[in-house]
Amino acid sequence: MSFVEQFSDLNRDALSMQLYSTTAEQVEAALINPRGDLTSLLALLSPAAEPYLEQMAQASVALTRQRFGAALNMYIPLYLSNLCANECDYCGFSMSNKLKRKTLTDDEISAEVKAIKQLGYDSILLVSGEHETKVGVDYFVNALKIIKPHFNYLAMEVQPLATDEYRQLKQQGLDAVMLYQETYQPQTYAQHHTRGKKRDFANRLSAPERVAEAGVDKIGLGVLLGLDDWRLDALMMGHQLSYLEQKYWRSRYSISLPRLRPCTGGITPKTMLTDRGLLQMIFAFRLFNHELEISLSTRETPALRDKLFALGVTHLSAGSSTQPGGYANQQRQLDQFEISDDRSPSQIANVIRSLGLTPVWKDWQGQWSC
Ligand code: SF4
Repeated sequence: MSFVEQFSDLNRDALSMQLYSTTAEQVEAALINPRGDLTSLLALLSPAAEPYLEQMAQASVALTRQRFGAALNMYIPLYLSNLCANECDYCGFSMSNKLKRKTLTDDEISAEVKAIKQLGYDSILLVSGEHETKVGVDYFVNALKIIKPHFNYLAMEVQPLATDEYRQLKQQGLDAVMLYQETYQPQTYAQHHTRGKKRDFANRLSAPERVAEAGVDKIGLGVLLGLDDWRLDALMMGHQLSYLEQKYWRSRYSISLPRLRPCTGGITPKTMLTDRGLLQMIFAFRLFNHELEISLSTRETPALRDKLFALGVTHLSAGSSTQPGGYANQQRQLDQFEISDDRSPSQIANVIRSLGLTPVWKDWQGQWSC
């Protein structure tokens, strides 16, 4: 059974009712042995778990240090193109937004690589809008040939591709694919994705399986927090994670928890996820999955990021530009979303060290995996 089939069997209304009727006794039961148990994940994401935040934090920190030691992995996004054939009303790259569109040439990619290497990075995330005719697999294969020799670990966050296309990219050194569902509520998804291939909810939902079938080392899931009820979206993501881990146990998994940020032509969030809510999500997922990598972007404020570094997060970006060509040429004009934390990578590394942790510029585990 595919996850799309399994997902269609899930009764989201019933799960939502359970989330909001969970009792303190159920949360306490979940805290005893939450690992891999979706019922416990539901309880830990529920409003009833809020008074247990301190207890969850202590367990989350201990588990994170046990599994990941003092390491915090640093990565940086490289935006290849802001061309996009989709309309997503929360994103500055939407096709109807009047922006100067830019797709990096070979020379511009090389200039970005040079600028990023000077910052010290060895782990990179390639990002593009979704425009498969102009920025499709042929473009990516060529880009990887230029970029991969300079980086130990290479991840991509682009449009969903076919299994054979992921295989082609794996041959060029692709290590990880980030594929965020944005929201697991089909009606809300349809409201926010109004033009282009991204309207196809099921195609996006099935894409992580294609990545796994192509044998890519790591798969990243995510929701855009604020589009719909974050508790239910997080729970649905837990269901997908659980499905993938059981079926594709050779892959590693990560999650990303971006909150909706202002952007050109964008919308205001339907639901606000507070800082405490974000902490609850991180702790709930750490207790649910001890090996899970949890990624933090520069969307969050410096004050909150500094707090989260020590509380269960394992991967973070710093010094990010969301403009194609933004590292070699630092004029700001084409942002996908606003960045809250614009401190330099070395400033962030100093904060990490001051917390007794170690900034790690390579994804060593990627080297060890086969
Ligand atoms: S979220 Fe992605 S697909 Fe949607 S408009 Fe932005 S870049 Fe395009």
